[in-house]
Amino acid sequence: MSLATLEATKARVAGLSFEGRAFLGAGYQPTRSGETFTKCSPIDGRVLAEVARCGEAEVDKAVATARQAFEDRRWSGLTPRARKQILLRFADLIESNAEELALLETLDMGKPIADAESVDLRLLVLCMRWYAEALDKIYDELAPVGDGAIGMIVREPIGVVGAIIPWNFPLMLAGWKMGPALGMGNSLILKPAEQSPLSTLRLAALALEAGIPEGVLQVVPGFGEEAGRALALHSDVDAISFTGSGEVGKLILQYAGQSNMKHVSLECGGKSPNIVFADVKDLDEAAEQAAWGVFFNQGEVCSAGSRLLAHESVREELVERVEAVAGTMRVGNPLDPETRVGAMVSDEQSARVLDYIKIGKQEGASLRMGGAPVEVERGGCYIPPTIFDGVKGDMRIAQEEIFGPVLSVLSFQDEAEAIQLANNTTYGLGAAVWTRDINTAFRVGKAMRSGSVWINAYDTGDISTPFGGYKQSGIGRDKSLHALDKYSQVKTLWVALG
Ligand code: ADP
Repeated sequence: MSLATLEATKARVAGLSFEGRAFLGAGYQPTRSGETFTKCSPIDGRVLAEVARCGEAEVDKAVATARQAFEDRRWSGLTPRARKQILLRFADLIESNAEELALLETLDMGKPIADAESVDLRLLVLCMRWYAEALDKIYDELAPVGDGAIGMIVREPIGVVGAIIPWNFPLMLAGWKMGPALGMGNSLILKPAEQSPLSTLRLAALALEAGIPEGVLQVVPGFGEEAGRALALHSDVDAISFTGSGEVGKLILQYAGQSNMKHVSLECGGKSPNIVFADVKDLDEAAEQAAWGVFFNQGEVCSAGSRLLAHESVREELVERVEAVAGTMRVGNPLDPETRVGAMVSDEQSARVLDYIKIGKQEGASLRMGGAPVEVERGGCYIPPTIFDGVKGDMRIAQEEIFGPVLSVLSFQDEAEAIQLANNTTYGLGAAVWTRDINTAFRVGKAMRSGSVWINAYDTGDISTPFGGYKQSGIGRDKSLHALDKYSQVKTLWVALG
């Protein structure tokens, strides 16, 4: 069954074509210099496409086109309902092309095809529909200023927005930016990661087909230090929305300071704690979610539950059950629908993860599971679920974001120690608390310095709930109506009454 299905998926891949040119204005265009880079698949190293290596020239052009589109109001001047209808059409087109987009995502960055379809594409469509539907239901405000005046508080689009996205969820994160940014009426320039440009490039053509006017959504593939830097440094870009590493997030803040003080929002990952108390109601459920919470998407997830904090009385039993769940996760060719853990995105990322596994051993943590790549396809790197036990709070594998399928297990004796350990990193993206006592749940939940806290669950949520970080996990929120803040200005219109 599985093999036959892998063959079927491979046959679908054989029928695909890949577009690597930039999407500028009305369509695909080569770079001015003709420069490209070769995009290979992390599955087996096969060459997928030559991709435009955009730099300042292409970014300048995209920004000028985006500005023109914004100024002549071809998009921002439409009624919210008209924008809604076009965005709904865009969502329908994404849905009807979901199979192709999911294959591009898997080939590009190595995630299991089953997840690309059932998670990434499903959530992208849902996200676009949610923002489209929200648009014509958002009201402005009147301030309580008395009879002498009318104090109107109106939300306006910010203008030209640059969105720099990473390679772990290219389409879904593009959706988190496109929904609110396009919904508000802005012009948007997407800079996909160099590891995963193909799916968003395809998306741009669907946007145009759906009726989003020329110049409103453009895609500039290329390297971070070239295309990404040029976009974030551009003085005619009004806002940058970035998802990626903290290191680059700090550079984006500098670029804003060196140029036009553009609005910056950042989501820069985490080292999220998953805290299991002794009175956990269902240890099997906690183990199941702890395992998926860190090994899903090869652990290449900003909100991965990469630290399991277990009360010492349940630690051993919990870890045994997490191991049992992880043992059922099939590491394999991501094109195989049975695969649960696919290929690491790049040689660089694999080396980084393997290096952390070496560091964990050197620091004295005990390796209970995994730890070495497994042979799946030549030319790809496949790291199985890996578990370190006996991790101490100050070890590097307890502090630094690994972005791979590596779980660090720490134990605690009481609630105060759990809170201290949980908050003891520079990050603050997510946290989970497993307990049957509602008082513990709320006390600990409120004590977490993180943007999301899940109680008796890990990494759940909805497009209607905000997502983002405290501390160095970032600035601003994706998802929900709060995301509109990143892509809008608030204006006071004061009307004096005579
Ligand atoms: P990761 O370490 O997960 O690859 P990065 O932060 O390096 O994350 O990359 C996230 C996104 O930021 C990618 O689109 C990448 O091209 C871009 N990027 C990397 N360096 C820079 C930079 N100096 N300026 C702007 N964007 C950058």
